[in-house]
Amino acid sequence: MIRDLAVVGAGPAGLMAAEVASAAGLAVDVFDAMPSAGRKFLLAGKGGLNLTHAEPLADFVGRYRERADVLAPWLLAFGPAQVRAWAGDLGIETFVGSSGRVFPLDFKAAPLLRAWLHRLRARGVRLHMRHRWAGWDDSGVPVFETPAGRVAAPARAMLLALGGASWPHLGSDGAWVPRLQAIGVPVRALRSANCGFERPWSAHLRSRHAGAPLKGIALAWDERPPPSATAARDDVAPQRVVRRGECVLSDYGLEGSLVYAASAALRDAIEREGVARCWIDLLPARDEADLAHALAGRGRRSLASYLRSQLGLSGVKVALLHELLPRTLLADPVQLAAAIKSLPVKLFAPRPLAEAISSAGGVPFEALDESLMLRARPGVFCAGEMLDWEAPTGGYLLTACLSTGAAAGRGACRWLGVSSS
Ligand SMILES: Cc1cc2nc3c(=O)[nH]c(=O)nc-3n(C[C@H](O)[C@H](O)[C@H](O)COP(=O)(O)OP(=O)(O)OC[C@H]3O[C@@H](n4cnc5c(N)ncnc54)[C@H](O)[C@@H]3O)c2cc1C
Repeated sequence: MIRDLAVVGAGPAGLMAAEVASAAGLAVDVFDAMPSAGRKFLLAGKGGLNLTHAEPLADFVGRYRERADVLAPWLLAFGPAQVRAWAGDLGIETFVGSSGRVFPLDFKAAPLLRAWLHRLRARGVRLHMRHRWAGWDDSGVPVFETPAGRVAAPARAMLLALGGASWPHLGSDGAWVPRLQAIGVPVRALRSANCGFERPWSAHLRSRHAGAPLKGIALAWDERPPPSATAARDDVAPQRVVRRGECVLSDYGLEGSLVYAASAALRDAIEREGVARCWIDLLPARDEADLAHALAGRGRRSLASYLRSQLGLSGVKVALLHELLPRTLLADPVQLAAAIKSLPVKLFAPRPLAEAISSAGGVPFEALDESLMLRARPGVFCAGEMLDWEAPTGGYLLTACLSTGAAAGRGACRWLGVSSS
């Protein structure tokens, strides 16, 4: 019998769409290429499963930058408060961490996913694993490659929640891009977001310090504000952003949370100019003039021991100063103080998308109507990371996936003439 809705992709976006549609009484099938559902969601659980963020809603929505306006209505309908209520309803209590990030009490994804799949099945949602969507047949019916061969699965509507293309071995590999382009959907290239960056270090630095954390630092970078009604993006002067935190000096360059926070701006700068610049403050709590004064008192003592004993700078931080500064500058207290406060680092390429936490690019909102239905293919909806938005880590990724999943699910209900809550 023909089903009401075929959801393709059993990640958070697809499962949330299935939840909304099944709650409205629709007969829903969920298909996924992998042997089990929610593999990337489970991986997110390894890092504690940062579900959402507890900051004021206006600030929360602003994290989506250029896409804040377009995502706002969906985030207002299903945002941080609804994500917490939804998890609570599944028996998973959440708490707000010191940084405002929201986690399940046990920091795990598996109990939440288990409860969720149990509830979906109880509502009649059928899950079909090892079903790789391979497009449509000549009569417009979705077809899937399965271990038993090709199967067609007719449904009155279809919802794609295929993810981006990071960590492709978990299922989302971006193979949907040419398929949607072939039916006239203008997909923006998928690119690395929340990723590390490449910069060739000397063999000496790599051999001694690759993998070392740079803790208690601040990173500065230039960011162009989102375009406004009156100014295009390229006409707006970039603003210097400074964040405290930590990152890691890796074999290939820099990675870690502070670099991820800067990654959209750094990636865009590399795309524009071939290089991105950022500045590390190795001692954010110290004043530059005070530092210069302290360094001037070194006398004949060795720089390394003076930096360690008087300023608490050692290991990878001092190695970075030697790596990036000319010898003459190291001997000048005023210039060295300035460099400690603002050590310039050039970055030359984002790490490959397969390694990134998330993807930028995807199906642009112009290709969708207000219910997230493809204009080029009425009756087919899209949700989650495959849409063209990006956000930093902090729970913004999962919240937007759940939110657009719910919105597309409601859209499919409306298209099929059923009311949804
Ligand atoms: C290491 C890591 C940690 C993360 N931690 C967090 C975090 O703490 N908080 C946060 O907010 N976000 C986090 N994220 C990001 C978050 O997990 C993703 O943004 C989110 O899972 C995307 O949801 P989605 O449903 O859009 O896509 P996905 O979760 O990628 O699901 C898409 C599904 O579609 C299936 N699929 C793809 N193509 C086909 C096809 N042709 N046929 C059938 N099925 C197909 C895939 O198998 C997959 O199951 C993390 C990501 C990574 C990599």
